[in-house]
Amino acid sequence: MSDNGFFDRFGGKYVAEVLRRPLDELEVAFKKAMADPEFLEEFRTIQRDYIGRETPLYFAPTATRILGGAKIYIKLEGLANTGAHKINNAIGQCLLAKYMGKKRIIAETGAGQHGLATAAACAKLGLDCTVYMGEVDVRRQQPNVASMEMYGAKVHAVTSGSRTLKDAVNEAMRDWAANPDTTHYVLGSALGPSPFPDIVREFQSVIGREVERQCEERGIKPTALIACCGGGSNSIGFFAPFIDKKEPRLIAVEAGGIGPGVGENASRMTGNASREGIMQGYKSRFLLDEDGQALPTRSISAGLDYCGIGPQLAALGMSGRVEFTSALDKEALDALKFFARNEGILFAMESSHAGAEAIKLAPKLSKDDVIIVNMSGRGDKDVFITSPVFRRKEWLEFLHAEIDRLESDKDVHDLGEIK
Ligand SMILES: *Cc1c(COP(=O)(O)O)cnc(C)c1O
Repeated sequence: MSDNGFFDRFGGKYVAEVLRRPLDELEVAFKKAMADPEFLEEFRTIQRDYIGRETPLYFAPTATRILGGAKIYIKLEGLANTGAHKINNAIGQCLLAKYMGKKRIIAETGAGQHGLATAAACAKLGLDCTVYMGEVDVRRQQPNVASMEMYGAKVHAVTSGSRTLKDAVNEAMRDWAANPDTTHYVLGSALGPSPFPDIVREFQSVIGREVERQCEERGIKPTALIACCGGGSNSIGFFAPFIDKKEPRLIAVEAGGIGPGVGENASRMTGNASREGIMQGYKSRFLLDEDGQALPTRSISAGLDYCGIGPQLAALGMSGRVEFTSALDKEALDALKFFARNEGILFAMESSHAGAEAIKLAPKLSKDDVIIVNMSGRGDKDVFITSPVFRRKEWLEFLHAEIDRLESDKDVHDLGEIK
């Protein structure tokens, strides 16, 4: 837990006065729920039967043999319902909202993965759902918009500012400030004003607790845990049970993008433009210009493409307990191919950054060492990103053919819209 909302000097609750009450009420309700056997029992049942927990801890024999060093295990978080770890937090917060008597959920989303998880959680729990998404993102992430609408959510395109994730967060905060009694804001990563970093870590720490138990059952002593790091929810949840111990090594991998230049990556801890600052309600490390304005970021993986990082990870990075590194777009693509071909496991583009670090680290360690990689999501969703890279010509032909088919085939239209 944070110390009154802070992790060393990071964190806090830097919000407008109108948001203090909803945040304080949320903190009280969260603490109550975490001590309420009824809540915990319902949560556990949903985790088991709906999310599909526990997720497997898979030994990767071929990758281990080829890399010729440490044994590699993969936590298959991508097998969770909806395809990634985000559902752990979405279900937890939506259930909490229900216990608080709220019937309306709002969420922000960038690439759409958190919006999708929240939309699914709301459908499952019978809650009304509105997802704020920058207009630019709505346009480039249509498959996720379609899924959110399929789950019954309303997707609200945000037209202010740069019309991307940051602006979606601002809109969601504004909505929450105007409707605190009916509405809960499901924040998607382990950041934002307190108590969100504590809440999101708690709901994601099921990943780490399962890994700890799975290791014990099988007599495995991990040397290093590796996770990719956007806002930091899958990494902090994976690391949580181990933070106060000396071992294993905890390694977080940021997006190295196309290189070290400003605007070319999303390396908040290891990058050239990394600065301490306060944004969107919390103090942490951000990619900022000299005037303290957010810099543009770049990554092939939408989920890592953000200028801020959760305050607890910033503190753990500064203290040295969590080691930060980065993987380039190209290294992540190579890792994606490596694990797909050799293990039959398709990593999400984000998770491939963790896979890339495992490929670098394993040969430097001995055969007695064990690396566990968190595959935060599966890669089916990335076909629109990977196909233009790996098979550009065929993909272009496919898209042209699809447009022709849709424009010529009137049966498709006659099936009508989803009501
Ligand atoms: C959103 C996302 C991430 C990045 O978010 P964190 O909060 O850093 O975990 C990583 N992997 C996948 C599959 C995602 O969808």
